[in-house]
Amino acid sequence: MKYPFSKEATEYVKALGFSIQDLEKEEFKPILDRAEERVKEALLGKREVRRPLREEIEILSFPVSIIMTSAMNNQVVKRRFADFEAKRITEWLKEENCENLIKVAKSFNWRIRALRGENFALHFVDYLKNAVNFNEAKWKLVNRVLSNGEVRLSKNDVARLLEEEVRKYIENKLNVKLDIELPETLNERVEKLTQIASKEVKRFKLEETPKELNQEAFPPCIKNLYQSVTKGLRVSHIGRFTLTSFLLNIGLKPEEVIKLFTSSSDFNERITRYQVEHIAGARGSKTRYTSPKCSTLQTHRLCVNKDELCNKVRHPITYYRIKYRMLRKGKSEK
Ligand code: SF4
Repeated sequence: MKYPFSKEATEYVKALGFSIQDLEKEEFKPILDRAEERVKEALLGKREVRRPLREEIEILSFPVSIIMTSAMNNQVVKRRFADFEAKRITEWLKEENCENLIKVAKSFNWRIRALRGENFALHFVDYLKNAVNFNEAKWKLVNRVLSNGEVRLSKNDVARLLEEEVRKYIENKLNVKLDIELPETLNERVEKLTQIASKEVKRFKLEETPKELNQEAFPPCIKNLYQSVTKGLRVSHIGRFTLTSFLLNIGLKPEEVIKLFTSSSDFNERITRYQVEHIAGARGSKTRYTSPKCSTLQTHRLCVNKDELCNKVRHPITYYRIKYRMLRKGKSEK
């Protein structure tokens, strides 16, 4: 039952039938303490707890930590919490035997079966829904052994794919609108965590990407794609994906991105809308895609006209943030 997303764990929490107001009671303090600690660990990026953890408290503190993180209402914090919790779970998954690993995978409705020697066969659709978010070549379906619609995987591969599934599961929970009034005790803790988050601002760039769009700050690869699209030139699928995910990640609305593609010679509003909204996480798996990093763009020959700043970054979004700040600083100094 140690996995908070498992059927047993969710049924157990439901059966207890406690309400959010119950959290004010003294007997819930250890749960609140642990929930706060979980969020704090994610913010600081390190595990603070070295003592053995009580399974019951771990299970019960999970939904409470989700509430605390949601209440902080910051996308970066939410992403960080989902990543951190998913990574913690992967460590456990790697220690599991094949039978238990399959049990966990089945709680996400994966069509998976064990093969000999800690190997697995997973239906390619279940494989793709998570592997599609990984950039490394080894996750591309063409680089996998595929037999009768099943992908052959090692135990570590299954654990990594499950980590992605768990991350999405947590992100979805965090994005459900919080329509409840939090008790005072919880509000105080959320306030404390928000202060920690704002102190961590530099370390994990809580200060999200600038709100207003500045094309001058685009990295050369994006500038090239942007110009090609606005001139109506043909752009490859990965090029369109890169530009769309980049623009959505720096804050453009899906509608604004769709408008940009209207100059394409092969523009089809229905298909473009579907693709853009899918990348924005408004459809399908509800995953918001991040734009590819530099190494991926280099593999696809989309890294062009590199400049000096390019040598200092590994991601076009990092380039954009730095350049944006440099341009702003330049303007304010004039
Ligand atoms: S190094 Fe990165 S940011 Fe610069 S052009 Fe290449 S892909 Fe773009």
